Amino acid sequence: MATVTESPAAAVTQLPEFRNEPVEDFSRPEVRERYLAALAAARRELGKEYPCLVGADNRERRSERKFQSLNPSKFSEVVGVHQESSPELAREAVTAALKAFESWSRTQPETRIALVRRAAQLLRERKAEYTAWLTLETGKTFPEATGDVEETIDFAEYYARQAAHLFLHPPKMTQMPGERDEFRYIPLGVGAVIPPWNFPSALMAGMTFSAIVCGNTVVLKPSSDSATVASKFLQILDDAGIPKGVVTLVTGGGAVVGTALVDDPRIRFISFTGSKAVGLEVHERAAKTQPGQKWIKRTVLEMGGKDAILVNDDADLDAAVEGVAVSAFGYQGQKCSACSRVIVHEKIYDQFLAKLVERAKKITVGPAEDLANYMGPVINERAMKKIQEYIEIGKKEGRMVLGGQQVPAGGYFIPPTIIADLSPTARLAQEEVFGPVLAVIKCKSFDEGLAIVNNTEYGLTGAVYTKDPAKLERAANEVFVGNLYLNRKCTGAMVGAHPFGGFNMSGTDSKAGGPDYLLLFTQGKSIGRKL
Ligand code: NAD
Repeated sequence: MATVTESPAAAVTQLPEFRNEPVEDFSRPEVRERYLAALAAARRELGKEYPCLVGADNRERRSERKFQSLNPSKFSEVVGVHQESSPELAREAVTAALKAFESWSRTQPETRIALVRRAAQLLRERKAEYTAWLTLETGKTFPEATGDVEETIDFAEYYARQAAHLFLHPPKMTQMPGERDEFRYIPLGVGAVIPPWNFPSALMAGMTFSAIVCGNTVVLKPSSDSATVASKFLQILDDAGIPKGVVTLVTGGGAVVGTALVDDPRIRFISFTGSKAVGLEVHERAAKTQPGQKWIKRTVLEMGGKDAILVNDDADLDAAVEGVAVSAFGYQGQKCSACSRVIVHEKIYDQFLAKLVERAKKITVGPAEDLANYMGPVINERAMKKIQEYIEIGKKEGRMVLGGQQVPAGGYFIPPTIIADLSPTARLAQEEVFGPVLAVIKCKSFDEGLAIVNNTEYGLTGAVYTKDPAKLERAANEVFVGNLYLNRKCTGAMVGAHPFGGFNMSGTDSKAGGPDYLLLFTQGKSIGRKL
């Protein structure tokens, strides 16, 4: 087991200012070689079976029924074999997490902070080998996968500092005469952490670190499409010296294991990121008081998007084309922040579209591990079929100006696809596709463009390109999204700089990576002491 720093208190009070993790430079041959070597090493471990980890000793638990996670770049490759857990095992995990809460909630904040930072340090040291699993299991190219791991480290470091602020520097209260009055933050209890597969490390780990650094314990139910990454993450937590039982791993279907956790009366909070449909179901189920339940479950629900970029007639066209292309097609359009609608002023519409198609034609598609490819595969067969269905709908609703290019066989590849001339109310302009399909909509004016940006049920990210400062200010005031970007792409939120979370049906606007996030996993206790 790794040793924790000798004097956690001293280390924590002297934390250097938060800085985002440096980005890996794949133009350097030695960096490329390091990652390819790590990938080759991971490949030798393909198909291994991973247990659930439940209990104070994180006992390995196996089920009779298993499921496989596949390499979406090459679906003949089984990445990991995992346990299809029962609701009973999920409930056992809650019992174990409750037990672990007794000691973890009383562990000094300094120690919790030091342990989370130790996990961040191990992630730094093992970055290439851990990244390889993201590439193999979720089809992220190396630049996308390292970005995911860098964000994971950022979350750990950022939440460590926020926890130091909350727990070690309590606010100064108004003092009543003859009293000492104080205000403390305490943890909530056992949380169910239910992440999606698309940021298989950053979201899973960010939701976990934020909960445990506050003294909560967690039952983690990862997405079945990224269960191997979750198992590797648990190993890192263990090696960092985070006591066994603080994070318990239960794999299996969302409808079985996820539901069992959400319904369990002993679960105090649910930290969920995923689709709107599942998020709303979690919201409803969690609101129902179960027999024996002593609290109102807290839910933090981050959901889908239909993110738009508005390009006005005075925009820097080349910058806008580049921003739209990377926002729409980076990680195959499978980011919740991805641009899935571009709304273009009629005066520049044809010119913009022509430039965008030329740019998108240069995008290379193929296995994620090949650095020559900008786009890898979509996550699984179901997603591929759903995206293809949307492309067919789009062809009827609008004009396909790019799509249908040849892609390699053996993986779930879909080429970058652009559907133009769509009505703002078309299905393709309203529904989340979650793939490399961009809807293009024409607007007559900046005002109409703003109205179209705001006309879906979502409100996650958005961007506006214009050179006019007054229009930028109007966008800042009027675009109703949680994360707005001006004259830049709408993806790539950075921890500490762009706290992340959406409005409307995009979620509860929890703002991950921001200064208020940890408050969601604590409760304030006010103590008035007679002197
Ligand atoms: P999903 O909703 O299908 O699954 C998310 C998680 O919920 C998975 O772990 C899944 O197993 C679990 N689950 C499924 N059914 C459940 C149920 N009935 N009860 C409890 N848990 C259940 O989403 P996904 O396909 O994994 O992820 C893609 C979605 O996530 C997209 O809609 C995307 O926009 C969204 N997303 C949002 C954000 C954000 O910050 N707003 C970030 C990333 C992804």
